[in-house]
Amino acid sequence: MARTVALVLAVLGYRRRLRRRDQWSRPRLLSYQAEALARLRAHAYKKSSFYQDFHVGLTDAPLSALPVLTKQRLMDNFDRLVTRLDVHLDDVERYLAQLRGNELFNNRYFVSATAGTTGRRGIFLWDFAEWVQVVSSYNRAFDWAGSTAGLTHRVKTAVVSSTNPSHQSARVGASIHSRWVPTLRIDSGDEIASIVARLNGWQPEMLIGYASLLRLLAEEQLADRLTISPQFVFSASEVLTDSTRRLASAAWGRPTFNVYGATETSGIAAECGQHTGMHLFEDLVITEVVDADNRPVPPGQYGAKVLVTVLFSRTLPLIRYEMSDSLQLAARHNCPCGRPYALITGIQGREQEALIFATANGQHRTVQPLVFHHIMDRVTAAGWQVKQHGDELEVLLAQPRDLDQQALVAAIHSALAGQDVQPPRIKLREVATIPRTALGKAPLIVRE
Ligand SMILES: [Zn+2]
Repeated sequence: MARTVALVLAVLGYRRRLRRRDQWSRPRLLSYQAEALARLRAHAYKKSSFYQDFHVGLTDAPLSALPVLTKQRLMDNFDRLVTRLDVHLDDVERYLAQLRGNELFNNRYFVSATAGTTGRRGIFLWDFAEWVQVVSSYNRAFDWAGSTAGLTHRVKTAVVSSTNPSHQSARVGASIHSRWVPTLRIDSGDEIASIVARLNGWQPEMLIGYASLLRLLAEEQLADRLTISPQFVFSASEVLTDSTRRLASAAWGRPTFNVYGATETSGIAAECGQHTGMHLFEDLVITEVVDADNRPVPPGQYGAKVLVTVLFSRTLPLIRYEMSDSLQLAARHNCPCGRPYALITGIQGREQEALIFATANGQHRTVQPLVFHHIMDRVTAAGWQVKQHGDELEVLLAQPRDLDQQALVAAIHSALAGQDVQPPRIKLREVATIPRTALGKAPLIVRE
């Protein structure tokens, strides 16, 4: 309890500093960013034997000249990469295996793991001072939406996401759960009827959920089974499509605010009240949008991945860490709100896969998720999923209305032909609900 009070007070104090930065000019922001990067690198070179070797001969080189850190490399070198002598991967793994509640590792560190659905899971940890910034980064998204987010007055909140204690969203929620932040946490893997019943009982003022789940809940609201009236609706961790936005605003009469975060970085970007895109939190994280060979991708184009440098990371410094999200930067960074941060105008999350198809001359070509979004967004349904297995494309539609099957198949067919690939056999299937993954997400694009 004492720890929660200290955390809430520290986050409030830090919020004042974050708000001041919103007023900065862009040159002021960039000079702050350069100073913060220099401090992070000095710390890593002094305390991490891994970075001493990894950046040998490059300690004065610009960020863009530094090698890229993959999850594999991070996990292979964990004990040398961390800057604290009391942190060893074996111990952290043992702690995670036994984690049930909100206890800290070594009574000192907050730990989160990324879902290890493919390959090795990543493990990240923060001490109290870093955790204040983790929580503050998410809180900034609420602040920009005009909500004081339960820190200065109580805002009843419902979070429908993963409740696994090793996931960061659960951790952030649990660490500030208190009488200030009355929060109902619902596992997004639960039955929709049960989620609806619990939300009706709780009547949240703030609703936070995965985009696919918000879509299902908006449908439930429009069907009068769900009867809540949240003042703030946030979508996190999945692609928020235009049609989900429209459904949510029809359901609750409020615009949905999109938030982009990741366990590795915490909050990275959020929308302001102008909804012109998501502003990158450039004072907290440097986000480089790059192609498959780590070369910068110009604004207006989608990158293949991002390289993130977390400016406040100290226990486990992250410098040019690779994440598989595909982002598009806006050509201009001016927004009527006046904030100095660059805007992301498009995001293709890691929950979706870019599908690969054969071309006429026997080559293979990747088709980005957006190609399907443009078509599927025009379909009226409680949900959809495009699934590739073998040389067949199966399109699942949850409770579609006024569906013209032939026209939809033709639209997908011609969109794929427009991408210069051989359109596969396309099969439509109507379902009651889109199947969700073990984490409770309903990915829009799946490759099997
Ligand atoms: Zn703005």
